[in-house]
This record gives sequence, structure tokens and C-alpha cells, in this order.
Amino acid sequence: MAKCAHCKKQGLFLKLNTMKLCDQCQKEYEVTIVPHIERWQNNVEFIKQNGNLAENLSYALDALESLSAIKEFGSTEIDIINAIDSTQRFKEVYDWLDDITDLIGGMIDQVEKSIFRNLRKLETATEDDLVQAFIESVRQAGATPSDLPYDISKSIHSILNNLVDDEHIVKNKIGDEYRYSISCD
Ligand SMILES: [Zn+2]
Repeated sequence: MAKCAHCKKQGLFLKLNTMKLCDQCQKEYEVTIVPHIERWQNNVEFIKQNGNLAENLSYALDALESLSAIKEFGSTEIDIINAIDSTQRFKEVYDWLDDITDLIGGMIDQVEKSIFRNLRKLETATEDDLVQAFIESVRQAGATPSDLPYDISKSIHSILNNLVDDEHIVKNKIGDEYRYSISCD
């Protein structure tokens, strides 16, 4: 007997589409799941093109959220990702994005560590000083900035702002420039 993969409705004459969805669930799919599929795909494209770590982290988290919604709609009955693209499976797509999210998080960690290390050394520094110090440490490690999978000069600004928001570092306007230093407490 035909059984809808989403609402589990059963019936001898129940019409199902290729995704094993009844007419009503197909409509629900178009309204609620298709936008999630687009969001997931767009976010992955953004991540591939963008060198800003903090932005990429939010794209990755957003894409994971969309994937969870897609998975939930298909329940255990149907792999929606595989249904729309037979070369992909939900688990692979999800695990890949989950790994990417961890990687981006690890890179942000490294940039933060470099910021703290340099602020301890310099006591106070501009954003540009911190970019230069970071690039210098990359060169000392025998690499060049273009070896990195992100652009440090695009990434550092929001990482610094997040550290200021979390009160780990302070930002002061001195003359016509902003200088950063480690919080006293
Ligand atoms: Zn249904």
C-alpha cells in the first residue's frame, strides 16, 4: 500500500510523487523545504568564494540548520538530498559541512591566539599592525598568506570586534586611529 514519506498517510489509491510524497506534502515541501535547499546551496557557494572567516562560520551554521530542516522533513523514509541530486547523500553532505564548520572554527581560534600573542608583545596595536604581525608569523613558518584558505586582512576585523564584544580586548580611539589592547580584568 502506498504510504507518504512525510505524513505517513496510507491508502490504496494514494498518489505519491517520486519523493514518495502525497500531494499535500508535496505542496508543503515546495513552501518550506525548497527555500532551505536554496539556502543550503547558496551558503556553500558563499563559503567557497569568501575569504572572511567569521562570515563563513555564520554561512556554515546557517547551512547546517537548513540541512537539519531538510532531514527532518524527510524523516527516516527519504533522503531528500539524494532525491534531488543522485550523486549526493545526506550524510556525506552533512558531515562535509560539519567538518568545514569545525575547520573554520579552528582557523578563527588560531587568529585569536595570534591577536592575543601580538597584543601581549606590542601592548597596543592597530588592526593593520595585527595583520602585518600575523603575516610575519606565517612567513616565519615558511608559508605565504596566499597559502591560507582565507584572507587575514578581510577576516581580522570581525574577529577583533567579537573579542571586543566579549570584553577580552578593548578598542580605543587614539588620535585618528583605533588601537586594540588586552582587557585589564
Ligand atoms: Zn503526505
